[in-house]
Amino acid sequence: MIEVDVRAVPLEQLGAMLAPDRAAALEASAARARAVLSDRTIWHVNATAHGGGVAEMLQTLLAYGNGAGVDNRWLVLDADAAFFTITKRVHNMLHGAPGDGGRLGDAERAHYSAVLETNLRQILPQLAPRDIVLLHDPQTAGLASGLRRAGVHVAWRCHVGRDDSNEMTDLAWDFLRPMIEPAEVLVFSRLAYAPEWTDPARVAVIAPSVDPFSAKNLTPSADAVDNLLATVGLVTGIVPSGRVTFDRRDGTQGTVRLRAATGGLVLDGPAPPHDARLVVQVSRWDRLKDMSGVMTGFATMLRRHGPGDTHLMLVGPAVAGVSDDPEGAEVLDECRRQWHALPAYVQSRVHLASVPMDDPDENAIVINALQRHAHVIVQKSLVEGFGLTATEAMWKSKPVVASMVGGIRDQITDGVDGLQVPDPCDLDAFAAVLHHLLSDDDLAARLGQAAHERVRSEYLPDRHLAQYVDLFVRLVT
Ligand code: UDP
Repeated sequence: MIEVDVRAVPLEQLGAMLAPDRAAALEASAARARAVLSDRTIWHVNATAHGGGVAEMLQTLLAYGNGAGVDNRWLVLDADAAFFTITKRVHNMLHGAPGDGGRLGDAERAHYSAVLETNLRQILPQLAPRDIVLLHDPQTAGLASGLRRAGVHVAWRCHVGRDDSNEMTDLAWDFLRPMIEPAEVLVFSRLAYAPEWTDPARVAVIAPSVDPFSAKNLTPSADAVDNLLATVGLVTGIVPSGRVTFDRRDGTQGTVRLRAATGGLVLDGPAPPHDARLVVQVSRWDRLKDMSGVMTGFATMLRRHGPGDTHLMLVGPAVAGVSDDPEGAEVLDECRRQWHALPAYVQSRVHLASVPMDDPDENAIVINALQRHAHVIVQKSLVEGFGLTATEAMWKSKPVVASMVGGIRDQITDGVDGLQVPDPCDLDAFAAVLHHLLSDDDLAARLGQAAHERVRSEYLPDRHLAQYVDLFVRLVT
């Protein structure tokens, strides 16, 4: 296993942006955590240090936890490509999509178990009997039983799911059920994701959150954003310096050296003109995020309503970036092939952008700047565990058009703080909703403002941290 370094971040900065009653509740949660958990380490185990929503949240919440005086440590599985191919199948099946052939064979099950057995041997010597382990997602499920045998407390948190079950979700749960049975608490992002055989007394529901002070969400100086966007031609009139500085949430200053002339973005084809209105989707290159459908829906809108000044940018990790997502390269290639086949007037308005993942600060700042530069953010996933990209955009006061799936349903009230597309496969409806929003700047501004307030009230880390304290206290008392 590989340990990820977690810096401690004091809670004061977060508290200062909250209403007084919420700031006081945050302090009370921290005091409760220190009282009950101070002689224990809380270990978080997941599959990747960078890329995707789980890593994004671990970086934030563990830093705040440590800042509050609770010892949190983060371990990432040491696993090979074959393991991640197997677990990506389980991930897809949990979302109800065929996992390349459905039921896992004996050889695959054996490989999954062998990899986790090796990881278990690495973690056990580090644990003290009073410790707590929070396992994240199907990749880590097979550790629960060995950890419980060693006497530590174990909870398993599942960040994926779909609202209704089907043959595929049943197959995924058949695989996972015996492994998660020993965990004392099972945590889901929505109650609907808990399979019907789970004992309600062992289930907790915790929705994700975004951190306003992370490099992904902080408000960079206007100079920094311009500098960054100038490197890819999205801003004109300044000579980019090739580096951007920003204040980290722990008070230190971060510097990102932008790669020459790319601003950390690898674009297929030319950059959008600087005065284009950008529609942006940020996602891993995953079929369930449906970048391909976004391209087709956008092309439909251009065909119906004329090209106008709107461009689409599909932004994802430079492949090989997200180690637990082996399908990325394949899906990006599919998108590239589709892009090459677009009519010229559409192709010149669609941009595929890959962001290198090797420097997490660079990745975060680039995504941050693009989300802020966007006129509209879309998230047209076919299924979605939660959809942090929607939350991130909403925090930045962007109007979001998203399909009404999974956690997005909880985040967006249609017409109030975003616009929903009821059926994610209905590309005509997607094109119509997008056009409607692009034609009404007042609506866009109103939705964006309400979106920011929605995130402030429901999806900031204080709510999430308090729920974690409840969970950990529940485990040990
Ligand atoms: N993300 C990123 N770089 C990318 C694509 C995605 O940093 O190129 C981040 C994105 O900003 C968000 C997370 O990955 O924080 C995706 O979380 P979400 O819940 O939307 O989907 P998941 O990838 O977990 O299915």
